[in-house]
Amino acid sequence: MTPRVLTVLGATGTIGVNTLDVVARHPGRFDVFALTGATQVERMLEQCRVHRPRYAVMTEPAAAATVRAQVTAEGLGVEVLEGAAALVEVATASEVDTVMAAIVGAAGLPATLAAAQAGKRILLANKETLVVSGQLFMDAVAASGAELLPIDSEHNAIFQALPRDFRGDLGRSGVNALWLTASGGPFRTLSAEAIAAATPAQAVAHPNWVMGKKISVDSASLMNKGLEVIEARWLFNARPGQIRVLVHPQSIVHSMVEYIDGSVIAQMGTPDMRTPIAYALGFPERIDAGVPMLELMGRQLSFEAPDIRRFPCLQLAFDALAAGGNAAAVLNAANEVAVARFLDGAAPFGAIAASIAHALDTLAGGPAATLDDLLESDQAARRVAGAFIGAVHA
Ligand code: NAD
Ligand code: MG
Repeated sequence: MTPRVLTVLGATGTIGVNTLDVVARHPGRFDVFALTGATQVERMLEQCRVHRPRYAVMTEPAAAATVRAQVTAEGLGVEVLEGAAALVEVATASEVDTVMAAIVGAAGLPATLAAAQAGKRILLANKETLVVSGQLFMDAVAASGAELLPIDSEHNAIFQALPRDFRGDLGRSGVNALWLTASGGPFRTLSAEAIAAATPAQAVAHPNWVMGKKISVDSASLMNKGLEVIEARWLFNARPGQIRVLVHPQSIVHSMVEYIDGSVIAQMGTPDMRTPIAYALGFPERIDAGVPMLELMGRQLSFEAPDIRRFPCLQLAFDALAAGGNAAAVLNAANEVAVARFLDGAAPFGAIAASIAHALDTLAGGPAATLDDLLESDQAARRVAGAFIGAVHA
């Protein structure tokens, strides 16, 4: 078997580390072409020693210089590149056939979109890219013949539960609805007052999953589910009314597809991102993921409705999806700014929904025909949300 030649964008993050864990279980199956990170020097060096990529990218020049000096001293044979343009280079290089897109936030968009335009097999974890540029991204995939495999556990579950020949027509496949499950996050049972006063440490303490800080806060606000609703709309060409959200605190049922004959097909498993990652890495084959088998004996599974009143971010995402145009790009950028401020201790948890609502009120309805339009909306929303938080919580 010729190995798959792999670039991992965001290799030093949680998804990146899990990806390389699965890769290491299958010697000879993958050839690691490039690994990318931003600032985490030690982790990148460790990954270079183990995986010997041809390229390592650090977007921060100072971090790149440190990594470069060390890989040279150790004679690892890794060429170290720096800056955001290098992300596009290693995502589109002709040698590469598979790109794991696992940078967090809209920062991942240029390289992920470039991989789509270059016709790569894309393992998509970076949901923000689809939220910002949904139609453009899916058009690029269709035009180039790129292959898109979802890594987000919910979308990977739906992908597994859809017919193998699904090509973007849910009606033709007899699908009535897509059910996205949500753990409910660490604040599921808290009062609105307690949520408003929550600290960053509370917000990142997820009950079932270990994840990067940004997505952990998104899980606490349910914005993660909101972003996933928009992600599902594009990945599966679903009408907004076909996408339902169900809170399932145990995170065993990862999502479900409801068919018109009354069948509901769910994908279940131990909550461990290596399962969807291995599914996509090996597709269409199943490969070992290192994940403990699901033990259902004696377990209780429960389901409840999401509470939009305590978790307004979910409704804001449905609103942005209904509004269309630039609204999802505005929603995403305002959320990124507000989450960063919250994590810095500069804004309370409640400021996240408030600043997103303000940014949508101010900016939704703006131009959205081109990528430049959307990136302008992204930048404008960062300014508007930042100013709002500065004014209210100075
Ligand atoms: P993380 O914070 O652990 O890692 C983020 C990665 O992106 C790191 O490698 C970091 O160096 C890189 N990065 C950050 N800012 C960058 C920038 N400006 N330019 C270039 N690189 C940058 O995040 P994560 O939890 O691994 O999540 C990554 C993506 O996967 C997110 O979009 C998240 O929503 C999605 N996702 C994560 C999980 C999970 O379980 N962690 C599950 C589903 C989806
Ligand atoms: Mg998810």
